[in-house]
Amino acid sequence: MRWVVWIWVGTAWAQTFELPATVKQGGVIRVRGPAAAAAAQMGDRKVRLFPQTDGGALGLMPIPADQKSASYRVELLDEKGAVLTISEVAVIDAHFRKQNVVIEQNVAELQASPGESESAMSFRQAVSEVRYWSEPLAVPVRGCMTSPYGVQRYLNGKPTGNIHAGLDQRAPMGTPVWAVADGVVKIVREWNVHGHTIGIDHGQGLESMYQHLSRFAVAEGATVKKGDVIGYSGTTGRSNAPHLHWTLYISGVPVNPLEWVKVASCYAGPSIARPKR
Ligand SMILES: [Zn+2]
Repeated sequence: MRWVVWIWVGTAWAQTFELPATVKQGGVIRVRGPAAAAAAQMGDRKVRLFPQTDGGALGLMPIPADQKSASYRVELLDEKGAVLTISEVAVIDAHFRKQNVVIEQNVAELQASPGESESAMSFRQAVSEVRYWSEPLAVPVRGCMTSPYGVQRYLNGKPTGNIHAGLDQRAPMGTPVWAVADGVVKIVREWNVHGHTIGIDHGQGLESMYQHLSRFAVAEGATVKKGDVIGYSGTTGRSNAPHLHWTLYISGVPVNPLEWVKVASCYAGPSIARPKR
């Protein structure tokens, strides 16, 4: 009997619950539902849906780079947690590559500043109510890509177990860095490992972070518009040359910026990650 009810409910919402059939590792599912939809659940990850000005509700479901490729159930929930409808999405292997990074030993051994990891984590995990962002996002700096998102990092030949959570763009010292979207500046810090770092909350689960800067052009609490200069590229923190490492977070999960903006690889031919020099 219950099953019959679910099928009926699923049919009733069919026009308003739109999901793609597939999503790549590092991608984002834009979950659109009726105004009654308050959250979406996929495995143990739950994200909020927010009412949108054009009607209905929207939530962003991140797919981590290391999410197993398989078929997953996505449930749309109302405010009380009751299931409104169920859909299926297949997560596709993105075939991320391996990359060795050569860094001087003293730079590799840098220890995080007191509170660095904790502050970065609490920034990531905050999900704020007001939506400032809209698509398309801006590319934050002029410069080709030296390392894409998702590559498995080797540091001086040793596997680190880390996946590159952001995207690296070559940028000479002092190149202006722009906000990728409207938002509120939440982090302006000088950290040992991240280097000089800016974090912007774009609202409703989307955030961006910019690392290894040489200088800041904004203060914490500032409201910025897409394309505003927020700082200047550098090589502070764990970095071997001036570049911008930037990250997009969806509800705390780093996702693939190349699904949002286009950046050409620095290397000829197909965009294969090569060891940095
Ligand atoms: Zn990087």
